[in-house]
Amino acid sequence: MIIGFTLDDLKLLCEVIDKSYPIEACGVIIGIKNDVWITKEVVPTRNELKSSIRFKIPAEDFYNADKKAERLGFEIIGIFHSHIDQKPYLSKFDVEYTKWTPEQVWVVIGYHKNEKKAEMKAFFKEKEIKIKIGEKTFSEVVFQCLE
Ligand SMILES: [Zn+2]
Repeated sequence: MIIGFTLDDLKLLCEVIDKSYPIEACGVIIGIKNDVWITKEVVPTRNELKSSIRFKIPAEDFYNADKKAERLGFEIIGIFHSHIDQKPYLSKFDVEYTKWTPEQVWVVIGYHKNEKKAEMKAFFKEKEIKIKIGEKTFSEVVFQCLE
């Protein structure tokens, strides 16, 4: 299983996680579930917990993103959040939360603010999946967030 992003998606994710730091950023990924799950739009949401170790998407924000997806003719294919100066993995809180979204990919971005370095991994039903950027696929995407 593979989820695809464009470079513009990564740029937007950089902006969102950098602005939110040191609070975990989060949001939903709208797209299409094909052979490769294609991201059409990254939709940032609020983090209801305002925490640097946990996140929760407010029900209202999730609902609005779902409506937006429907309007565009797509669906919610994923959930993303950042880890503050940590590796991208599913924490025990994350694993609990994934049980509520069994049909979505979980994208975790470890953000190291000092180096402006982002490490992105994706999971489906708690298992790591591949990420496609352009024509290349990766187990982990490491990218630089520039000013
Ligand atoms: Zn997490």
